[in-house]
Amino acid sequence: MARPKKYRIVEYSLKPTVFKPNRKSSDQVELTIDELEAIRLADLEGMYQEDAAEIMGVSRQTFGRIVKSAHEKIADALVNIKEIRTGKDERCRNVKLMKCESCGKIWKVPENYEGNECPECHAKNVHILKIDN
Ligand SMILES: [Zn+2]
Repeated sequence: MARPKKYRIVEYSLKPTVFKPNRKSSDQVELTIDELEAIRLADLEGMYQEDAAEIMGVSRQTFGRIVKSAHEKIADALVNIKEIRTGKDERCRNVKLMKCESCGKIWKVPENYEGNECPECHAKNVHILKIDN
């Protein structure tokens, strides 16, 4: 059984963004949602890879690869003056987003999750916001 309270908000998936260098650049890199989520958990939240991997529902090895890929793309963009586009989610096939109509909380659950309670306010009027596939 899933533990939905461990899943974090992935606002990024709702607002694709383009980061532009302040000089002309024709190249771009694309950060996928899972890459963005991975560096958020690892670099911003400072989580251990093992814990972050569990939240994302992947192995620690896979998580490590996702983080590495994200770091390489960001480094490429910064060093070689490229745009960074976020918001693609082709790798997030096993995830769905839930939204609570009472408090507005949005959270991520595994595809097979069938709970119907908000982890924040425990309201029951939650619905699936989006299925990535
Ligand atoms: Zn709620």
